[in-house]
Amino acid sequence: MRLTTQSPDGTQAFGQRLGALLAVGDLVLLRGTMGAGKTTLTQGIAWGAGVTGYAHSPTFVLVNEYRGRLPLYHLDLYRFAGDDAVQSLGEVEDLAIDEMLEEGACVVEWAERAAPVFAGDHLEIALAEGAADDERLLVLTAHGERPVRLLSDLANSGGTS
Ligand code: ADP
Ligand code: MG
Repeated sequence: MRLTTQSPDGTQAFGQRLGALLAVGDLVLLRGTMGAGKTTLTQGIAWGAGVTGYAHSPTFVLVNEYRGRLPLYHLDLYRFAGDDAVQSLGEVEDLAIDEMLEEGACVVEWAERAAPVFAGDHLEIALAEGAADDERLLVLTAHGERPVRLLSDLANSGGTS
């Protein structure tokens, strides 16, 4: 599934549709450079999951937990890169994402920085800047059975394809 959005609001609105469909155990991995719109999308996902308030990227902690219709865990692995990569991997493993997924859904920014940790089922969303300033291209790929169903429900939940 691919779509373009023309504004931060558009990206949030799409995130909201996804958030409304999330269930316990769903893992969403967001790829894309700084400013691509990962956090903006996550805000929409959080609203769609029934979280009130604003989702900020977890800068000082690695994980923010929001309470909505279900617990939503928001991770940002930006600081995991470079020389400490191996040690970082251990740190990400220590986060026990499997345990989070037993309780709720999980959205991860910069998941590619700890790729081996995320070998299991997930919905991948790659974000990139478009031709115009406020345009973003979103490409969604399902890895696993449940993500395939989630993606098809998402495609059916709105006019965009
Ligand atoms: P990331 O988390 O990927 O680094 P952010 O969501 O924090 O990105 O920032 C995206 C920036 O791009 C914000 O300043 C936002 O206002 C801007 N922006 C402009 N157009 C869009 C769009 N269509 N979708 C998302 N963000 C957009
Ligand atoms: Mg971010």
